[in-house]
Amino acid sequence: MKAAVATRAAVYALLACGWALAAWALAGSVVPDDLSLPRVNVDATFGGDLVSRAERYERFLYVDWALAQIAALATLWVYAKRGTRFIRESAAGPIGTGMFLGMVGLAIVWLTQLPFSVAALWWDRRHGVSELGYFEAIFGGWLALGGTFVAVCVALLVVMALARWLGSWWWIPGAGVFAAIAALLIFVSPYLTEGLEPVKDRRLQQTYERYEQAQGVDDIPLRIEKVSGDTSQANAYAFGMGPSSRIVLWDTLLDGRFSNREVDVVLAHELAHHSSNHIPEAIGWFALFALPGAFVLMLATRRRGGMGEPAAVPLALLVSAVFSLVVLPAQNLVSRGMEAEADWKALQTTRDPAAARGLFEEFATTSLGDPSPPTWAYLLLQTHPTLAQRVAMTDAWQARRRSRALSP
Ligand SMILES: [Zn+2]
Repeated sequence: MKAAVATRAAVYALLACGWALAAWALAGSVVPDDLSLPRVNVDATFGGDLVSRAERYERFLYVDWALAQIAALATLWVYAKRGTRFIRESAAGPIGTGMFLGMVGLAIVWLTQLPFSVAALWWDRRHGVSELGYFEAIFGGWLALGGTFVAVCVALLVVMALARWLGSWWWIPGAGVFAAIAALLIFVSPYLTEGLEPVKDRRLQQTYERYEQAQGVDDIPLRIEKVSGDTSQANAYAFGMGPSSRIVLWDTLLDGRFSNREVDVVLAHELAHHSSNHIPEAIGWFALFALPGAFVLMLATRRRGGMGEPAAVPLALLVSAVFSLVVLPAQNLVSRGMEAEADWKALQTTRDPAAARGLFEEFATTSLGDPSPPTWAYLLLQTHPTLAQRVAMTDAWQARRRSRALSP
């Protein structure tokens, strides 16, 4: 008995060391450690009117988000207490029954979230941020919703099978399997995304290829996605991995509201996500969060016979939801670090701080984003540095270049 306790302690200590080492390795960034961001006068930079309009717009969405979280957690809490009743109605074996309970739970939560997503859409449409129809918004995402159902089903299948086989040790290989599933989904997603068009603008393509060379990556296809019928917001993203790597610009970015130089900053920023390996790094972080997540799940479900028993599944859904919410600030911190690195690399590539500044100022208008949100919203919801911080970084980059030019 004593030997077993000692083995357990040794495994935990080893895992904790490995975790810390991996986190340290993943947290590296090209943004200079000693970079201090100057204070930005938000009203003067973005315009007082726009700032107060953006604050009012975002406030509603904050409340909506908070209420949606409360509704989801309350529903899952009730489901964790009462959901096991459905076991009697299942004719499947324990794993099949567990997956059935998972699907029922997910469907109930999806229903509770509907009023909040409809309210957010109503607010977006009212402010001209979205032109999406209600029907389209609710059912247009069926592919993503179907994907979530399949992912939860597969995750339950793996976890329950591992738990029945390995008992309370399932969480270590389980976290690895979660990360492998995430990596697979990220790898295939560009092949499953329809409606991405090649670039017709020669200037854009040539600039893009020059930046590819500058950042030491090649042959990452640049694609345009038509979203102008659904939204006036401007965006771009990098996705896929290795041969499936892609960079996508929304066509709203190219409708004349942004100058060529501003679009170039976006190109360099998105390219930086690939040249800095942010996507494999994100999978690494996912694995690092999955490990304690699976551990907590194992501990929490012990009273219900462990994750091998279908009775544990409704409780597991609640625990997973609470865990995701608790680690949200840490995940956003990681994401903001990568975004800051991409901004820095974009400045190094374009050497055009004026264009970067212009881009961030314009984003406040096109997305009605609060340039300097309240701290709690910053911690819980901001995956990017705030627009004020992004403007401050362009100023810091410029100041640094000037001081370098002056020093002998
Ligand atoms: Zn980015």
